[in-house]
Amino acid sequence: MSAAPHCPAHPDAPLTPGVSGARDQFFTITEERFAYRTCSECKGLVLDPRPGPEAIGRYYGGYYTERFLERLERRTQGGKRAFGSGRLRALGFLRGLDKIGFDTPVGKRLLDVGAGLGAFARYARDLGKMDVRGVDFSAHTAAFAKRLHDVDIDVNELRTQAYPEGSFDVVTAWHYLEHVYDPITELAEMRRVVKPGGVVMVETPTPSLAYRVFGPRWMYLMPPTHLYHYRPATLVSMFEQAGLQVVAVRRPWFPGEWAGSLLFSLGVRNFTEVLFGGGKSARERLIRLAFFGMIPVDIAWGLLVALIAGGSNLRIFARRPE
Ligand SMILES: [Zn+2]
Repeated sequence: MSAAPHCPAHPDAPLTPGVSGARDQFFTITEERFAYRTCSECKGLVLDPRPGPEAIGRYYGGYYTERFLERLERRTQGGKRAFGSGRLRALGFLRGLDKIGFDTPVGKRLLDVGAGLGAFARYARDLGKMDVRGVDFSAHTAAFAKRLHDVDIDVNELRTQAYPEGSFDVVTAWHYLEHVYDPITELAEMRRVVKPGGVVMVETPTPSLAYRVFGPRWMYLMPPTHLYHYRPATLVSMFEQAGLQVVAVRRPWFPGEWAGSLLFSLGVRNFTEVLFGGGKSARERLIRLAFFGMIPVDIAWGLLVALIAGGSNLRIFARRPE
């Protein structure tokens, strides 16, 4: 475990107790228990103690397994059938660009950082007619993205890729910033590679009402790969410290958070595999039935809560000053 994590926005602020006893229930790679502490300044969450960069790799063993990718490829008929979340993200993103007064996206250069399976980049290209590129450290998912979506992803960390200064009009990072050790340095690099006046958009989970209700069983906690959970104030401060001008802060909502957190509270393990692995045991069938059966209620309740208290995602649009 590496020494003394702190809030990236407020490195001098003391950390107060947050939640403990949290487990990796998404993938169940490990039986270890994890704790998050709270920044006394912004109430953002910090995984502490945490595995260092040299040890974190093994905890990613459940993300995008060969089996998962094979099933995805079959279900989408080799990418011909739409990826729901990639398309939804692209639609929301293009609407967001329009709302902040961004000139037409057509032909503009977009870099998606932590591009994963490439579905967002594909739909930004297909729906927004943008010239897209991704960067992601995984050669495995980059090859998948090329095959399914014909999206080019540079296999590297953003900073070591060292794109020329100002080479993109827009940089996006979906559910990326909660995974990195030094998010302000990452944001500063996004600022450097985008043109003056260009846009940086980041989306990341944020502790919502469901976090207050479920604590260590909140579905999006995802220890230990989520090193931080930012509040709006955390992220705004980080953007400012990275030299970016925040122009919009939104709290989008996505279904499944309440139903999933409830199942986590009942002790569900290996959630992703049970839900999408197609296992036929009685236990697996029961969990799937419970989750998908609860979804209509989850949607109604989740939307109501999101309208009153904000959704569980934080989406920020910022510009590099001219
Ligand atoms: Zn803080």
